[in-house]
Amino acid sequence: MATKKFFLPESEIPTHWYNIAADLPTPPPPPLHPATHEPIGPEALAPLFPMELIKQEVSSERYIEIPDEVREIYRIWRPSPLVRATGLEKALDTPARIYYKYEGVSPAGSHKPNTAVAQAYYNKQEGVRRIATETGAGQWGSSLAFACSQFDIECKVYMVRISYEQKPYRRSLMQLWGSSVVASPSEDTNAGRTIREKDPESNGSLGIAISEAVEDAAMREDTKYSLGSVLNHVLLHQTVIGQEAIKQFEMAGDYPDVVVGCAGGGSNAAGLMFPFLKAKIEGKRDTRFLAVEPASCPSLTKGEYRYDFGDVAGLTPLMKMYTLGHGFMPPGIHAGGLRYHAMAPLLCHLYSEGFIEAVAHPQNPCFEAATLFARTEGIVPAPESSHAIKGAIDEAMAAKEAGQSRVIVFNLSGHGFLDLAAYDDYLAGRLVDDHYPEEKVREAMKDLPVIA
Ligand SMILES: *Cc1c(COP(=O)(O)O)cnc(C)c1O
Repeated sequence: MATKKFFLPESEIPTHWYNIAADLPTPPPPPLHPATHEPIGPEALAPLFPMELIKQEVSSERYIEIPDEVREIYRIWRPSPLVRATGLEKALDTPARIYYKYEGVSPAGSHKPNTAVAQAYYNKQEGVRRIATETGAGQWGSSLAFACSQFDIECKVYMVRISYEQKPYRRSLMQLWGSSVVASPSEDTNAGRTIREKDPESNGSLGIAISEAVEDAAMREDTKYSLGSVLNHVLLHQTVIGQEAIKQFEMAGDYPDVVVGCAGGGSNAAGLMFPFLKAKIEGKRDTRFLAVEPASCPSLTKGEYRYDFGDVAGLTPLMKMYTLGHGFMPPGIHAGGLRYHAMAPLLCHLYSEGFIEAVAHPQNPCFEAATLFARTEGIVPAPESSHAIKGAIDEAMAAKEAGQSRVIVFNLSGHGFLDLAAYDDYLAGRLVDDHYPEEKVREAMKDLPVIA
């Protein structure tokens, strides 16, 4: 009989999000006020986020109930499939069993709607009429645009100008879902106007776009701000991924030895890993966890673990993270979603405690892995997800070399249908192999605040 390939849980999607803060062996370092360097309380975040999300941000409750309205929307694409990558296994001729959890089935084509829907819901509950956010290549902006359309909330997206001009299709998606999108730096905020006065041709950056969206939310009574990765409540919402996977592995009669995720801000990796990590923290399982990052933006593998700002302008609270410096501008690799200077504080804490391993790869070997995956499993991966595939393939080949069986699961965080230009570049041999920009990192690290 053929190996069973496709696993959907017969049960419903999870009823609760899993909050790993409840199970951490040591508490993570608190966020600090940017000026006083004292730990901040929840009230410091109140101008930007609805109270329920702030409560989740600081919560130590193990399970937080998913509201029915949110589960109802999750139902459009959840539970997402867990698939045994039999075609890839065969091509690699490996004794390892490889599975992937496929988040590309969401309306926006990635894992990001898992948190976007939850965030839009809590904003709606608290009477927020409008949300402002930033987006780089448009994955987060399109996910939030979709979520806001579900709850009839206005959404304003500040999109990095170079992407706005060069990658128009995610902008089309946002507009199709009813959001207004403006190229950043824009004329709509002080931050944007100041930069345009100095440099009318500015291509923009994620840091500038964040400053514009935060200013927009802070200036308007009816508007809040929303972030698509890094923060505790974002990672919390993503745990539907790992909880479903645990049930699906039960159905498969299997259990992973290694859990792999690509890491930009850390949310999709954490979403798959944290529910499995619970058993490791409790000493019940000896699962390994592997975060894969780009060689050009290697915060975990090359960064320093210290307090830094979440944004370029230095407006956010200080968070303890593996960081390359908030002023660091990574090279323009195709996996735009992985170009963040730091990493989610929760993931960093677990990495520093030895629960998670990390590795960095340049983009050419990742595209090679993605191409093999597309030719064996059919699905075209997002360039971000290709890093997880590369990590999983290396694990499978190591198992083969050692003559061991090994069960590997990775998060296929999104599909690559809006990234075909990047595949064109790869297939034509035009992709430059990125490297670790040591000099730029050293420069950026000089601007980190010194905490007494
Ligand atoms: C945004 C994005 C990522 C990176 O974000 P994380 O917070 O690290 O998960 C990875 N994959 C896809 C498809 C994305 O859109």
